[in-house]
This record gives sequence, structure tokens and C-alpha cells, in this order.
Amino acid sequence: MSITSEAETSLAEQPAPNTAEAADGHQHVASGPSVTGETSTDRQRLHLALAVGNVFTWEVDLATDALTCSPNVAEILGFPVGPTLDSAMSLVHPDDRADLQQWFQRGTAGRPEFDAEFRLVHPQTGDQVWVRSRGCHVPVDGASDRFIGASQQITDQKRQEMHATFLTAIQRDLSGSADEEAIPRAVAERIARYFDFALLTLVEGDANGDPTTVIYRHGPDDGQTVDIVDAVQPAGTLVPSLRARQTVTIDDALLEPGELSGTAPFEGGAMRSAILVPSAGNRRWTLLLGGYRRQPCHWRKDEIETLEDVTARLRLRLERVRSEAARRASDMRYRTLTGSIAEGFCVIEMLFDDDGTPVDYRFLEVNPAFERQTGLRQVEGKRILEIAPAHEAHWFEIYGRVAITGEPVSFEQEATAIGGRWFEVDAVRLGDPANRHVAVIFRDITERKRADDAVRESEARLRRAIAIETVGVVFFRDDGVITYANDAFLRMSGYTTEDVGSGEVRWDTITPPEWMPRTREANEEFAGTGRMAPFEKEYLRKDGSRWWSLCAATRLDAREGVKFIIDITGSKRATAEQARLAAMVDFSRDAFIGTEVDGTITSWNPAATRLFGYTAEEAVGMNVLVLIPPGQAHERERIVDQLQRGEVPAPLETQRLRKNGSRIDVEIRPSHIRDAAGRLAGVAIVATDATERRRLERAQEDFLAMASHDLRSPVTVLRGRAQWMKRRKTYDEAGINVILDQARRIERLTDDLREIVRLEAGKIDLERTMIDLRKLVSDAADRLRIQQTTDRVRVITPAAPIAGLWDRDRIGQILDNLLENAAKYADAESTITVEVSRAENEARISVMDRGPGIAPAELSRLFDRFYRVDGAGAAGGLGLGLYISRMLVEAQGGRIWAESTLGQGSTFTATLPIAS
Ligand code: ADP
Repeated sequence: MSITSEAETSLAEQPAPNTAEAADGHQHVASGPSVTGETSTDRQRLHLALAVGNVFTWEVDLATDALTCSPNVAEILGFPVGPTLDSAMSLVHPDDRADLQQWFQRGTAGRPEFDAEFRLVHPQTGDQVWVRSRGCHVPVDGASDRFIGASQQITDQKRQEMHATFLTAIQRDLSGSADEEAIPRAVAERIARYFDFALLTLVEGDANGDPTTVIYRHGPDDGQTVDIVDAVQPAGTLVPSLRARQTVTIDDALLEPGELSGTAPFEGGAMRSAILVPSAGNRRWTLLLGGYRRQPCHWRKDEIETLEDVTARLRLRLERVRSEAARRASDMRYRTLTGSIAEGFCVIEMLFDDDGTPVDYRFLEVNPAFERQTGLRQVEGKRILEIAPAHEAHWFEIYGRVAITGEPVSFEQEATAIGGRWFEVDAVRLGDPANRHVAVIFRDITERKRADDAVRESEARLRRAIAIETVGVVFFRDDGVITYANDAFLRMSGYTTEDVGSGEVRWDTITPPEWMPRTREANEEFAGTGRMAPFEKEYLRKDGSRWWSLCAATRLDAREGVKFIIDITGSKRATAEQARLAAMVDFSRDAFIGTEVDGTITSWNPAATRLFGYTAEEAVGMNVLVLIPPGQAHERERIVDQLQRGEVPAPLETQRLRKNGSRIDVEIRPSHIRDAAGRLAGVAIVATDATERRRLERAQEDFLAMASHDLRSPVTVLRGRAQWMKRRKTYDEAGINVILDQARRIERLTDDLREIVRLEAGKIDLERTMIDLRKLVSDAADRLRIQQTTDRVRVITPAAPIAGLWDRDRIGQILDNLLENAAKYADAESTITVEVSRAENEARISVMDRGPGIAPAELSRLFDRFYRVDGAGAAGGLGLGLYISRMLVEAQGGRIWAESTLGQGSTFTATLPIAS
């Protein structure tokens, strides 16, 4: 709108139409003083236009500083302006004054155009009124410079403009950042500036409408102003209003004492006016804006609406930012989770055929672990059957069920088409059921499965091991209680499963007392090292009998151990048997020789040493051929041949060589030594000294020869004498004596034979009577004298009787025998001395002759049955006399021996115990 200076000048002088009621929208143009020279219609039209345009005119006289406005000024601005420019300047908003002043200065400096926008402040209410003034400098005669112009009240436009700018800026603030803290800060700063708030608070509330957090605070923090959090208390009317999302205002705290004006910001008059704007969607307020001014004010509807609008936008933006942040966070978490988890993850879309049967699925999304777990690459968008055509139908069934029912599943399954791997899978339906999306999280458990299988296998193996029939297996606790025993152990120990179950079968109850120390030692070893080295011990069976075990243990865990037990009772018996056998072999009178097949000697017993003269050390390792006389090696070969054929060779009587080179008669009984496979591993030889047997055999032969001779010759003599007397038919004294003598000889022989039969049968009946040996000896000497008709016998007896409880006849028999031998083997005329003496508790009878004597080697053998010294010749008897004598002496507790010097004679001594 362009206003000419003339018009403005004239207008300024005219009162403006009364437009007092313009505010209510009804414009009334009041009639005022007429403008000279113009039609009243024109003037009225102009005034009307000015009023409608909210325009008033003015004139400033720079000389007098007087300001003259058209009368409608108060109506347009709400307050009068003038009368001086200075006083008008005081109404100008301080921020705009300098600007305005410049316009005036510029005008006087030759730039007459004047066009300024500025604010005036209502002197009473403090309300701001925007004004646009246009005018020009009018120099008049140099003395009276004036500015004339017209001003338009543009508050509404300005507000709308500013409002639009403000809202644009607010929108920029809101959208310019996604920062939860930066947004309210920027917005609050802008609101505070725009609304001239000295204090601004942004408070969050919870779903109940109770304040929780001050998210922003702008303004003095002088301790006088306290958070709105404190101001908004549940009691009173303020909170219900806020909860009902109603904006609460206070124009002047001093004039409107109330709940809000009683709060801290108003204390001491720090603040005078306030507005509280709650904002919420459809619930209780969640954001509360509090704006405070130091000055009282009148809260305009548009201000309130703007604040409500801005607060709502801020709340929405904050909610959006937060939900986006939350979504981003959860998205991030999701990405991070699916990206970082070791588990494979995928989202699949189930594909169904026309019948609704799940037949395939498509990968929509997979995480990095997916490839690692499955070995499948770049699967997104592809169907599983494209990738693994043999993928089993049961996968589709399972996932299809999840997609349809929405029930999550967890399962373990082998995917043979995907490398035969085992997977542990969790599947859950995702999102809209219609999409048939399934989220699958899975883990490759192939290794674990293998480990499981290995464990199962080893368990099975262990079970098989435990079930073994020959090894007892028991589980035991550290306190010694057996908690489990397998059948083998039950069989060995005689206990039952029930016994074990009762907890009464313990080490100490099944261990014999003498085995406890060893058992304790083993238990200590177990406690210390977790194992028990194998050892042998005896156990008690339930019935109290014993059994031998070989046992070893190892720890299972902190409380239990397992013990393996083998029943070695049998082998122990065998060992004992072996030991007995070894002892028998050692003490045997027979030589035991073990050889390898090639003849190398491997064992050699003491009897072998006695027989052959080699010690075991010398013999072992030597070849047995060394013992075989030259030219007889074939004997050994034949034996080995027979053994190898599996035959048992007959005992062999042969000769062998002694260490000293002499030959010895032996009887050899060879037998097999077999290895585990039953093959011939060697030859066992039992060699018996056959010398004795050979001698016995010879003695028996001699005996038979002699017996027949000794019996036949007296019989021949008897028959000769008897025939001779029959022919002569005469009694012949000498002939009778010969007959008697021969008869006695037969008697003697038969007595000896009878005696020996009795002795051999161990039947000697002693008839003990108190006898004096002196009498028996002299009787025997007499008998010999009569028999021999010589007096070559000398008897030496002590003065005192030598008496004892002895068998008279048996002692007589011994004496007869010794005396007859002496008479028989010594020279016919040599003296025979028989002496009886006493030495301590025994009586001694010695018979001494001056005969040929006996070789020392023969002495000990004289008393053997049938033993006769070689060359004793016909003088000898059956070799039984001394044998019988020894038996009779020994039967009465005595001894008998011979002493002799070859060529000088022999002394035979018998002792008899004298009972005390
Ligand atoms: P025999 O019937 O042969 O006499 P004996 O047992 O009485 O049997 O004697 C055994 C052997 O002892 C005799 O064959 C003889 O060689 C020897 N003998 C016994 N007594 C004497 C002796 N007084 N002097 C020498 N040799 C004797």
C-alpha cells in the first residue's frame, strides 16, 4: 500500500473512526471531525479503509520532538502513543529501539524513505504489538523538519509469520536430529526464545500421569526455581487437570494465588506467569512443558495453541525417536545377536503344495554362522530343495507344523542331505501366520553326537566288561561299602545282590583278619594315588571259607572306585601243588632231570646230584649225552623218537656215567614235557639208582640159590644117614647127631624165614620180663660151646646184674646170631669174646671176633635185608641174620652197629635201654 505524503499529512490531522469494537469483528466507523476540502463521503471511505487496514497516521516534528498520531491510534494499538517521540520510543520493545532510531537518523541524513517494523509493548499488560510504519522525511523551510507516515498494526500477520517461521524452525529442530537429548534441548531453547520464557522445563510423566524425569530445563538455576516435578503433586486440582490433558495457565501469580502460584518458581516473585502444557496421545500426559515468565502476561489463545501444538509435536518426535532408537537398538541387537551367535540362524518361508502339505522352504535370511554350521553358501532367496534335493521330508513336516500351529519346537535331527550332520534345532513361527515364516536357530551337534555315541559305546563296552564272567567287578565307596558287584564277584564271594544292596558287604567284613594290614595299605595307596596296584590277597566267602584273589582298583570319582578281582584260588592251589611237587622232587631219592628236546639239561634235583655227582649249577645247560656212556647215544635218540610219536617209552635199565667217570646202574623213566600247544618241548627223566635194586635182585637170586642149597644139603645129609642106618638096620650115635644137627640147621633156616615174614609184616610181639643180661649171655655162650664143641668163647660180665624188661627169647636170638656169625667167619680156633656192660641208661652187648674183618663201605649195609658181603662165600647164610637182629634190637628201643678193621676182626655191639 502506497500512501502519498499529502494524504498522510492530511490524514494525520484527522481523527480516526472509532473502531473500538473491531476486536470482536464488528467494524463501526464512527463519525469524526470533517476534513476540510474533501467530501464527507470520501473522508468516511478513507477512514473506513484505514480502520479496516488497522492503519493510523502520525507526524513527528523533529524540532519539538512532538508526535502527533491520528485519533484511531489507541484503538488500533490498544494504547495511546505520544505525545512526544521520546515517550513513544519508550514503548518500543528495547530490542527494536536502535533499529527504529536509525530510520529517523537515515531520514535526516537525506534518505527520506522510512519503513520499519517494530514492536511496541503495552504499557499495562506488557503485550507486544507489531507495527509496520512507513513514512518519509519532510524538510519544511529548513527549520521545522518533520517525519510523516502511516503505521499499520501487523501483530496478527507478524505473529502468523513468526509463528510460521517458528514452526518451520521447530520442525527443523525436530527433524534435524535423532538425538533424544539434542531434540528437546533445541526445541526448548527455541520455545523459550520465542515465548520469552525465563524458565522452561520439560518433564516426562509415566502412564499414571505422575512426573518422573526432567528431560530438559532452561533458565536460571538459582535454587529458587525448583523442578516442576516438585510442583506437580497428586493432591490438589492441578494434577487432575494435567492428567486430563488440560493446559493450565497463570497470568499473574501475585493476583492469582493458587496451587500453581504456590510452587517454587514463583517464590520471592522470581516468576510471575506460567503455562503448563501436558501432552499425551490418548493416555495420561507423558510430556509436560512448563513455561514461566518473569512478567505477568495474558496467555493468548494462539500462544496456548502453539505451545500445545509444539509440545505435542515434540512428544511425538521424542516418542518416534525413542521407538526408532529402540527399534534400532533391537534391530542392532538382533543383527548383533544373529550375527555373532555361534548358532546358525535363518528365517524360512514354508512352501506348501495344493493340498496344504509342506514340501519345501525358502531361505529369507541367514546369519554368518549359518554357513559355518551347514556348509551352505548364499542360500538367501533359494529353496532348500534347490540346494539339497535329497533334504528329508520330515524337516518340512516339522517346520510346516510350526508355521501352521505357531507352536515352537525343539528337536535333534540328522540332515543326511547336508553332509550327514546332526542338528539341535529350535523353530518358532515368525510374524504374521499368513506369511508362514519360521525362524530356525540350530547348532551342529555332530561332534557331540559322535561323542555321545562314543560314550554310549564305551558304556556298552564297560557293561560288557562288567558282565565278564571271569573278572569280578565291584564299585565301592571310600568308606569301604560295596555299592555294586557283578555276577562274577557274587559267584566268587557267595554273596547275593541283596547282600550288596543292604550295604553290609564291606572290605573289612570280607577280609580275613591277617589280611587287614595289607588291605589297609592298599586302601591308603588308593586314597593317595587314586589307584591300587594289583596284589594278591585272600577273601572270606559268605560261608566263611576262603578264596584267593588278584585285585586292582582305580578311582571313578571323588567318592567311588571300581575294583577288578580275579579268583586265583585254583592257580594258588596249583602253585602250592607245584611247590609241593618241587619239594618232592627236591627231596626225592630219585633223580629228576629235565631236558630240552636237543638234550640240554634244564632242571636237576639234589638226588640227581647224589646219583651223578654233578651239582645243579654244573648240570643245567650241559647236554644230557655227557651222562650216556659211549656207544649208547642211540638210547636217547630212541626215547626222543618215541616221545615225539606220542608214545610213552618203557622204563629203561641201563648204565650211565657219573662225574668221576664210573658207571652206575640206573633205571630211566622218560616222559613228555609239552608246551602250551601240546608239542614236545622237552624230556623229563626220572633216573633211579639201580645198584641197590640190582643188588637186591642178586641177593634174592642168591637167597633162592642158597635157600635151596641150605635146605637141600641138610636134607641130603639126613636122607643119606637115614638110608645108611636102614641098610645097616642099626643105631648109630654119630649118625643120629648128624641128623639132629642138620635138623637144627633146617629149623634155624625156617625160623629165620618165619621171623622175617613176621618182621616184614610189622608184627613183632615182644614178651617183656625182668631179665638179667649176664645170664642170657652166659647161656648163649654155653649153647655155642655145645654146638661148636669148642671152648673158644669168653664171657665178660660185670658183678652187678644188668637187668631190664626185655624179651628173653629175642635177645637170645640176637646173641645166637652174633655169636654164630663170629664163629662162622672167624678162624675156627680164634677167640670170641662176648661182653655185657652198662653205660648210663643202656645195657651193651658186644661180640668181638678175630676174623677177617669187614671193609668200611660195607659196614652200614650189613644190617640190610639179604645183604651179604661179596666173597663171603659158602660160609655165608641168607643175608638175613643181621637184618633180623637189627629189627629185634630196634623193636626193643636199642641200636646195633659194627666196627671192624680188615684183617683184625670185627666187633658187633647192640644196646638196650634200661628203664629207670
Ligand atoms: P649170613 O646169613 O650171610 O651170615 P648175616 O646177616 O648174618 O647173614 O651176615 C651178613 C654178612 O655179614 C655176612 O654174609 C658176612 O659177609 C658178614 N659178616 C657177618 N658177621 C661177620 C663177622 N663176624 N666177621 C666178618 N664178616 C661178617
